[in-house]
Amino acid sequence: MHFTPEHEMFRSTLRDFVENEIDPNADAWERQRMFPAHELFPKLAKLGVFGLEYDPELGGMGADHSYTVIYGEEMGRCAAGGVGMACSVQSDMATPALARFGSTELKQKFLSPAIRGEMVAAIAVTEPDAGSDVAGLRTRAVRDGDEWVINGTKLYITNGVQGDWLCLLARTSDEGGYRGMSQIIVPTSTPGLGVSRKLEKLGQWSSDTAELSLVDVRVPLSNTIGEIGRGFQQQMSQFQNERLIASYMATGRMVLAIEKTAHYLRDREVFGRPLIDNQYLQFRLAELVADVDLLKHYNYACADAVMDDRNALEITKMATIAKLKAGRLARDVADTCIQFHGGVGYMEETWTSRYFRDSRLLSIGGGADEVMLRIIAGLEGWGKL
Ligand SMILES: Cc1cc2nc3c(=O)[nH]c(=O)nc-3n(C[C@H](O)[C@H](O)[C@H](O)COP(=O)(O)OP(=O)(O)OC[C@H]3O[C@@H](n4cnc5c(N)ncnc54)[C@H](O)[C@@H]3O)c2cc1C
Repeated sequence: MHFTPEHEMFRSTLRDFVENEIDPNADAWERQRMFPAHELFPKLAKLGVFGLEYDPELGGMGADHSYTVIYGEEMGRCAAGGVGMACSVQSDMATPALARFGSTELKQKFLSPAIRGEMVAAIAVTEPDAGSDVAGLRTRAVRDGDEWVINGTKLYITNGVQGDWLCLLARTSDEGGYRGMSQIIVPTSTPGLGVSRKLEKLGQWSSDTAELSLVDVRVPLSNTIGEIGRGFQQQMSQFQNERLIASYMATGRMVLAIEKTAHYLRDREVFGRPLIDNQYLQFRLAELVADVDLLKHYNYACADAVMDDRNALEITKMATIAKLKAGRLARDVADTCIQFHGGVGYMEETWTSRYFRDSRLLSIGGGADEVMLRIIAGLEGWGKL
């Protein structure tokens, strides 16, 4: 991965935006349990972040994946993890399949406004009885003339309260297993679709999370993304974007958290000398610096694989490893930061407590650690994929 002065300019523009437009509002948005996506997204969209790799004819930047790495690392630095996560849902979790497989009309209607930040997108896969096992989902779309009639429940949907459309995965035939599912764009204003619960969470407070109910929701058949019946496969491909951006963001956040903790240790005197003078603390942080650096460069290797258009299984394995390691390392970093701050680290007024809560999600969302291990074992040929 080689970063040019253009990359560095993009990085510095994003860093300014995060520090000046997001971070000063983070505490209020956390208290309100929601950030105003319809206010923030159009401003952020002006930096091109919701269409970095998308077609310029649709409003995208037509850039390569290296810019997505920088975007992820910088958004990871947001003082409230929920804002970065919600943005990444818009850019890398709910829209890649539409950009890759959608018809031109569908992209003009839903992708272009999302790129401009005028529409907020959500990805609706998980259900009460189907999370890790996506093939177990029960939401059903039945064909009626040139419409789908959709019934079901979706759970833990990020941006589900304030979103304008869902990239929804539903069963569209009785084939069972990995077959017979389709991805369908469902505008949230469609009659029959409602937020049954706005969910309270351990962390990521500024991002809204919803349980959604769909009762006889009618959308045109032409809202199907790509091929009818190929939804599961298309979603698996979309998951690679999700897992990569999650790892890029986590890495950006870890670098910042270690820097801030080292700074605190320099300022805080205990037993008559700065805490940083304790070799144990230095070494523990140094160990984390080494681990984060390894992950950062693994992320860059993943990005190179994407840009080289290497085969799908190789990219799947790399994205899975990155997400697994990022989730585990983020927990270690967050725990160490809180520990080295002592009592003040446990206080809500200190950034460490929010980071500790927020970082816990990465080992669960977008596929739990154990699901990542299952995929890696399957790709090694030891178990079922
Ligand atoms: C804050 C938040 C935001 C989210 N946002 C979205 C969203 O926007 N859209 C969306 O569709 N989903 C979203 N999710 C859902 C998330 O992807 C799922 O929670 C996750 O995939 C796990 O599914 P589950 O909760 O049903 O856990 P389950 O499938 O019930 O699994 C429970 C646990 O069992 C273990 N496990 C599972 N399978 C195996 C196995 N094969 N072997 C060994 N152990 C296993 C893991 O430890 C796992 O955590 C979100 C979740 C959270 C918490």
